[in-house]
Formats: sequence, C-alpha cells, structure tokens
Amino acid sequence: TIELLGLSKRYGGVTVVAPTDLRIEQGELVTLLGPSGSGKSTILSMIAGLTTPSEGMVRIGGCDVTHVPPAQRNLGMVFQSYALFPHMTVFDNIAFALSIRSVAKAEIATRVDRALAQVRLGGLERRRPSELSGGQQQRVALARALVFEPEILLLDEPMGALDKNLREEVQLELRQLQRELGVTTVLVTHDQEEALSLSTRLVVLDQGRIQQIDTPIAAYQRPSNRFVAQFIGTAN
Ligand code: ATP
Ligand code: MG
Repeated sequence: TIELLGLSKRYGGVTVVAPTDLRIEQGELVTLLGPSGSGKSTILSMIAGLTTPSEGMVRIGGCDVTHVPPAQRNLGMVFQSYALFPHMTVFDNIAFALSIRSVAKAEIATRVDRALAQVRLGGLERRRPSELSGGQQQRVALARALVFEPEILLLDEPMGALDKNLREEVQLELRQLQRELGVTTVLVTHDQEEALSLSTRLVVLDQGRIQQIDTPIAAYQRPSNRFVAQFIGTAN
C-alpha cells in the first residue's frame, strides 16, 4: 500500500503539486495521466524519495517513509531519463545495485538472467549501452528495476521508445508482475490505450491537482469535469 497524505511540492513559491491525498492498494497498477508539466514525475519522485515534499507524508506499507532515503524504500524505478552506466556492460548495469549490496555472485547471475529474460534481452548481456537501440536501453533500465524483485515499481514513460510489438510484450510482463506477484505499480504514460488496458485505476492530473481518481471505465464513461472529458478524449 502506498499512501500520500496532504503531499505537496512547491518550487520557490510556485505550487507544482497541490496537497494530494491518494491511497494505492497492494497489487494495483495505477496510471498517472495529465498534460506536460501537470506534476506526474514530481509525484513519482516524491514516492521514490528523490524529491523532498514541501508538506505532507508518504506511507509505504503503513510506515511513514517521508524521510527514508530512496535505497531503503524497496522500490524499483524507471524514470524518463533512464541513464545507464556507459562504461559497463548490460549485465553489470543490471547487477550493479545487487553487487554493492553484497548479494552472492551465483545469486546475482540467476537474478540478472531472469530479469533479462523478462524484458527479452537474453544474449545481449555483454554489450555496452552505446551498442544498443533506444528501446533496448529502456529495457535494460526496466530489467535493472526488476532485478530487485521490488514490492513497488515506479515507471515514468518506461515504454516510450519501444515499438508496438515490444510494447505489448512489456505490457504483458507488467500485468503478470501485478497479478501474479502482487507488485504495486505506479505508471506514467501518454498512451491512452495503454492506460486503459493496464490500469486498475487512473489518476487524472491538471496543474498539480487531481481531477479524478477512478477505474478506466468509469473515467471514460463518467468524466468528473470538462478537463477530464477533453483529456481522455470523450468530449471529441
Ligand atoms: P511531463 O509530461 O512533461 O513529463 P510532468 O507531469 O511529469 O510533465 P513534472 O516534471 O512533475 O511534470 O513538473 C511539474 C512542474 O514542476 C513543471 O512546471 C516543472 O517545470 C516544475 N518543476 C519540476 N522540477 C522542478 C525543479 N527542480 N525546479 C523548479 N521547477 C520544477
Ligand atoms: Mg514527467
């Protein structure tokens, strides 16, 4: 469970996320939808612990983690800038976080192999990022998040550079993680179809304020205001 309680962010007097309350149950896949600049990445970043909230609290599994550093929150994340270590191979990029946590070598190899298979990158482990396509780099970033076997996945446009087929494969994988392992996922996407087909609920944002929290069907059929109707396309 992820709970946001009165969570807000201001930069120099400008509110980019107004006080926000949101409760995401374990095993949900919640999509944040909204125009550019509406605060989606800022909310993810506060859940991750990479951005300090101006006010409010983040709870994970009932515990206040507002001041807990990102590495101790047991979450996997893929952000818009999915920087890989350019001098390391695919294998080492994925293994890095495990190796600094002194996980045994054999265990690392098993987990990296599993993560690579999950994102269909088997066979590329010796390449460096510069020898991969954009979509392949993005999948390495996803594998790096999965290798932790995290309870929570935070994904900011993780499929932006993937072609249709790969996108569908990764979507299937996400659905499986969510349904079979109960991984709680918060996803940002600009792809309406993806949001509709994957999400248990949608959170529609405009200018740092939540406009509607609903199942995809309900949001499409009964948008709570004109903005939501226009944004998700039912007003056209
Ligand atoms: P996009 O769809 O373009 O990724 P977004 O919904 O993810 O947009 P955010 O990145 O959360 O939007 O940004 C929300 C607002 O906060 C924007 O107006 C942005 O310019 C502002 N902002 C983000 N980070 C900072 C910062 N470090 N300093 C000042 N303003 C910031
Ligand atoms: Mg963003």
